[in-house]
Amino acid sequence: MAPFDLVIFGGTGDLAMRKLLPALLHRFVDGQIGPGTRIYGVARDSRSDEAWRERVREAVADIAAADPRVAEAVDAFLALLHYRQLDLASEESWPAFAAEIGNSPDRVRVFYLAVGPSLFANVADRLDAVGLAGAGTRVVVEKPIGKDSASAQVINEALGRVFDESQVFRIDHYLGKETVQNLTALRFGNALFEPLWKAEHIDHVQITVAETVGVEGRAAYYDRSGALRDMVQNHLLQLLCLVAMEPPASLAADAIRDEKLKVLRALRPIGNGNAAQLTVRGQYRAGAVEGRAVPGYLDELGEPSNTETFVSIKAEVQNWRWAGVPFYLRTGKRLAERMSEIVVTFRRVPHSIFGDPADGSASPLAPNKLVIRLQPDEGVKLWLMNKVPGPGGMRMREVAMDLSFAETFGGRQPDAYERLLMDVVRGNPMLFMRRDEVDAAWHWIDPIRVAWEASHDAPKPYTAGGWGPSAAVALIERDGRTWHEDAQ
Ligand code: NAP
Repeated sequence: MAPFDLVIFGGTGDLAMRKLLPALLHRFVDGQIGPGTRIYGVARDSRSDEAWRERVREAVADIAAADPRVAEAVDAFLALLHYRQLDLASEESWPAFAAEIGNSPDRVRVFYLAVGPSLFANVADRLDAVGLAGAGTRVVVEKPIGKDSASAQVINEALGRVFDESQVFRIDHYLGKETVQNLTALRFGNALFEPLWKAEHIDHVQITVAETVGVEGRAAYYDRSGALRDMVQNHLLQLLCLVAMEPPASLAADAIRDEKLKVLRALRPIGNGNAAQLTVRGQYRAGAVEGRAVPGYLDELGEPSNTETFVSIKAEVQNWRWAGVPFYLRTGKRLAERMSEIVVTFRRVPHSIFGDPADGSASPLAPNKLVIRLQPDEGVKLWLMNKVPGPGGMRMREVAMDLSFAETFGGRQPDAYERLLMDVVRGNPMLFMRRDEVDAAWHWIDPIRVAWEASHDAPKPYTAGGWGPSAAVALIERDGRTWHEDAQ
């Protein structure tokens, strides 16, 4: 890749240290980032280039220790890094910064806003004022893009006043995950699934994003957000879109984003009239996760709160392909395991020739399931009914055809940020959210939040280390279905 400039505003923060810089190091090791590229970290603290490099060295120590190729490359990578002190909220220091960054006007310039959204508008205006917002410039923004439709609009307008939509890259890192991209490959690279991909053959879809972590030191921040805004509005809805969208005409960014947008606009509205039946929100209490005792959410926060740390929703895409097929979504903190997966459950066979489960002469035939595991153990499993080997009757059992990414493709699974950062430099927006997608997602989310607030019900408590409140189990079980559990 031709040398480029990448500026991380918030270059000393958690996102920069834990995700962005390790991702850039990996791309450097693989030869995608060449000499001459400049990577700047910007924050308010005063520190030298050398001091920042040493912090980054510490942040990548584990990955360097695990791979000799990375260890060998660290010094050369650190030589690309520079630190500049700048208060993004002020007007001072920008001219000197602009003079330095602006000295290579023909390069691609990426400004990564790894800072809170309250700074986005000011940064856009300053970049414009100092002449750094030209055609070669790209800006990357992270969630949260607002906390509702109105605040998202304010942010998007501020960015839109300075930048063309093609210059704005809204990251949802789930879209950079290999398994998420593989969903598109599975659906549209094989003739097998697409004819079956509709209400006639699919009984329901489950999307789970489960975390074991709690809110720890970020309780005050999280309390203003909650699981609906923090996870459903972006990650879960993006996954739902990729499962439910019509085949795009090509892999062109707008072809895919147009189809995703249609899904968001076809979601059955949930609000005052039906939120109580179609949604469950929960909040964790003290419990044990992975054998370790953990405090409850309110203990961590230190005050009363109705913010949800768990949400489950029965969604529906109201179009010809999906009418009547429930999409059960669930996400939460302090659940039993860290796991994200999409489960597509097909309809049962119309008639069993293997005996009648009702009279005990056979076990029931389980429906086929396609399970796309996003983390951990990325891979795809197709659950099929098989005959249990051996003499005697036809005993049937559900068995998974297992395509483990690690076993099949070997090697390291690149982190989503590696792909996404390089896509920004290349100017490929396919895996980023367009403004109208963000708007449509908030448009669906806002009335759910309003309905919850109007109801004055508290979130349902659940014990840390479980699978959320029992009402989330009831949400799916009253339809005669269950949450998928890997039966191995
Ligand atoms: P963080 O750890 O609090 O870091 C914030 C960074 O911004 C620090 O480097 C801070 O340094 C700098 N900063 C703050 N105010 C500044 C100002 N006025 N001028 C210049 N620099 C300033 O936050 P984070 O976790 O990295 O998250 C950053 C943003 O990404 C947030 O909006 C967050 O919601 C979002 N995000 C984070 C993650 C994640 O994994 N961490 C994931 C998704 C989205 P100084 O205080 O020294 O200036």
